[in-house]
Amino acid sequence: MAIRLLWLKQSFPKRFNMPSNERMASTLQPKPFKVLVLGGSYGGLSAALNLQDLCGGRPPRCASEPPDTSKFGKIPVDITVVDEKDGYYHLISSPLALASKEYAAKAWTKFTDIPGLKNLRMIQGSVQKVTASKKHATIIESLTNSPLTLDYDFLVAATGLRRVWPVVPQAKSRESYLSEASEHIDAVSKATDGVVVIGGGAVGIEMAGELKVMMPEQRVTLIHSRDKLCSSEPLPDDFKERCLIALKESGVETILSQRVLETEASQAEDGTPGWNLHLSDGSKIRAGHVIHAVSKSIPTTTYLDESALDKEGYVKVTPRMNFPPESPNSQYHFAVGDLTKWTGIKRCGAAMHMGQYAAQNIHQLMLEQVQGVEPKFTELDAIPPMMAIAVGKQAVAHFPPDGTSFGEELMEVCFGSDLAFSMCWNHLQLSEDPAPSL
Ligand SMILES: Cc1cc2nc3c(=O)[nH]c(=O)nc-3n(C[C@H](O)[C@H](O)[C@H](O)COP(=O)(O)OP(=O)(O)OC[C@H]3O[C@@H](n4cnc5c(N)ncnc54)[C@H](O)[C@@H]3O)c2cc1C
Repeated sequence: MAIRLLWLKQSFPKRFNMPSNERMASTLQPKPFKVLVLGGSYGGLSAALNLQDLCGGRPPRCASEPPDTSKFGKIPVDITVVDEKDGYYHLISSPLALASKEYAAKAWTKFTDIPGLKNLRMIQGSVQKVTASKKHATIIESLTNSPLTLDYDFLVAATGLRRVWPVVPQAKSRESYLSEASEHIDAVSKATDGVVVIGGGAVGIEMAGELKVMMPEQRVTLIHSRDKLCSSEPLPDDFKERCLIALKESGVETILSQRVLETEASQAEDGTPGWNLHLSDGSKIRAGHVIHAVSKSIPTTTYLDESALDKEGYVKVTPRMNFPPESPNSQYHFAVGDLTKWTGIKRCGAAMHMGQYAAQNIHQLMLEQVQGVEPKFTELDAIPPMMAIAVGKQAVAHFPPDGTSFGEELMEVCFGSDLAFSMCWNHLQLSEDPAPSL
């Protein structure tokens, strides 16, 4: 506090309302910092909530080794989170949400029903353009379908990747998501000639496995073009081989090293609708329902200036999670989660971790402006490839330095009993009412 008062006497930077006379100096209130977070999922909510903690003088909730915040006091802040969806959707559980109507209802919670978000301003809308040089962003607000320009002091981009159906639901509201999931689950359960999942990456494996768990009577076949599952992941062969064993143990049939050349709609002799799949070895198999789990997901960063992006559209973040120095006002712009160019496999744990790093670094910049404190930035290390997959009732994981492990106990450790819904929800402390407002 002493440092802060001393510094206040020296100058009135633009963070403070200018007093009309000297007597007002004792009642000076710094203007709240405006922080705009784009994307209200793992990375975005982590950045927003950890920053809210820090500005309230509390340790950031997601930090395993939180900084000592007791000496910093409170910093007024207005945090706005923009998302196309009307709620928090536990995206990693999509394979289960698209196999069980009961679970689907749990996986999406409207932002207005989440106690932990009460002190954040949530706007449902789609980000169209960020003008980093002017520090403002234009969004199309869903409610009015009209443009809204938001000024900010700090921005966090956390809008992830654009993924196709049925890898993830495409709905923007909870109601339409529930009907989207319900229609899919009905189609899969009624498929009299079985279900074929095309694509043996992590998503295809989980989709096939969850279907078999939820609908044990249904015949589920997974077709993959390579001789190993998860073939494009930078993980060792023993992990890929264990995924295949676990998938077979769950009751899923597998066809490897075959491409599906054509998927042709055709009725069975009794009139049942279905599909004939023509494979690269000339064989043909029949399916009542086909799920494509093979698309490449692309970054949602079309609203950002090219100077911040690599050729594929990922944000070229620095270890502090800042935009690259060649991008305007880069020190006030941060990106976290899947849309960043960073080492390792895209994971929700990494997104939340990056979110709290961005929060700590934004807080340091605020402290510098408000209290004249020399900032101490937190820098992210390279993340090695690691992954845990739910394959039916067991998990298969590869975490360095332990290597590959698997089993039902591991499932409990990695995913609990609800495909990690509770783990993520509790990590972000979404049930907790916010501490008294700032
Ligand atoms: C089927 C599946 C299973 C997975 N399983 C696992 C797993 O077991 N473990 C694991 O660690 N990871 C898993 N992942 C990866 C994990 O889901 C991602 O790493 C994680 O979601 C990244 O979080 P994020 O916050 O960066 O982005 P996202 O979770 O993708 O969130 C981005 C948010 O931004 C919003 N948005 C997008 N564009 C805009 C826009 N223009 N304007 C406004 N809002 C926008 C979206 O609505 C969304 O809410 C899985 C992924 C999939 C698809």
